[in-house]
Amino acid sequence: STTKEPPKIHRLEESVVNRIAAGEVIQRPVSAIKELVENSLDAHSSSINVVVKDGGLKLIQVSDDGHGIRFEDLPILCERHTTSKLSKFEDLQSIASMGFRGEALASMTYVGHVTVTTITAGQLHGYRASYRDGVMENEPKPCAAVKGTQIMIENLFYNMTARKKTLQNSGDDYPKIVDLLSRFSIHHIGVGFSCRKHGATRSDVHTVASPSRIDAIRSVYGVSVARNLIKIEASDNDPSGSVFNMKGFISNANYVAKKITMVLFINDRLVECSALKRAIEIVYAATLPRASKPFVYMSITLPPEHIDVNIHPTKREVSLLNQEVIIEKIQSVVEQQLTNSNETRIFEEQM
Ligand code: ADP
Ligand code: MG
Repeated sequence: STTKEPPKIHRLEESVVNRIAAGEVIQRPVSAIKELVENSLDAHSSSINVVVKDGGLKLIQVSDDGHGIRFEDLPILCERHTTSKLSKFEDLQSIASMGFRGEALASMTYVGHVTVTTITAGQLHGYRASYRDGVMENEPKPCAAVKGTQIMIENLFYNMTARKKTLQNSGDDYPKIVDLLSRFSIHHIGVGFSCRKHGATRSDVHTVASPSRIDAIRSVYGVSVARNLIKIEASDNDPSGSVFNMKGFISNANYVAKKITMVLFINDRLVECSALKRAIEIVYAATLPRASKPFVYMSITLPPEHIDVNIHPTKREVSLLNQEVIIEKIQSVVEQQLTNSNETRIFEEQM
């Protein structure tokens, strides 16, 4: 037999480790934008503007009017595991911010060129600094700045040829980016959002802060969605401790679409939950005569200790305590509301 000697195990260089990890946090341009927008939300911004070139591969720019970043923090801003949001592991149980891993900005510097411009309250001028591979490249330069922070990523995946090629072949991320900002803007209605391609005068998402969720939905998803919505609400407070609250809008029997739109926030985090999505689709298929897919906006709140936000670096999925109970409850509320609205519709048609 050909017994070979085992290959020698060695330690990877830190820069290699960091780039591998970065590729997981920042999977594509839209994931970078999600992280940047969440940082802007965490900074209590009231206006967030996104500019994108070449689907985000050439340029991503996110500007906000939030609290800014301290001058003293700029040197470590893009190092791995530096954050202003989490100190102790236990804090994860009650974390209210979107971020907590201190990895997003660092990751971006390992797979792109990052420039940060920021100003804090009471300062006469801001600062600009550039970063590569976690390191600030030179002393921050004083510069003119309006309130908040602007983060620019250039040449994303310049050092990941395979990733860049796959992305270039699969059509660009711009539609995904518009979709992402649309979702954020109907949940965070106190924040104005805009998104446009670099050089374009027209924005593809444009919302102003407004007290009305329906207005936000109308301005982003159109009148045909907004005029066919049913308000839903559910909550539960049983002794087993499955405390939850759900509020939202679902499309009625008059709404027609080929694909489901499901915008889901759990404790203000934009997440996916395929089990819940499927459960709602089943209700629609069983209740409505036409094979129309629903529009669903749902905001669920749970005690923070009932939700595990740290399942994946992208934070796209969360796991819930008592998920089945919650889904069943939501399913029955949706069914009830939809049946009511459908009966009203049939009745009105018969009059
Ligand atoms: P995390 O959000 O998990 O803390 P990030 O790498 O996304 O990690 O950001 C690191 C830190 O940089 C944040 O904790 C925050 O203090 C600061 N920061 C990032 N973006 C902004 C912003 N737009 N406005 C103010 N501070 C920011
Ligand atoms: Mg973050």
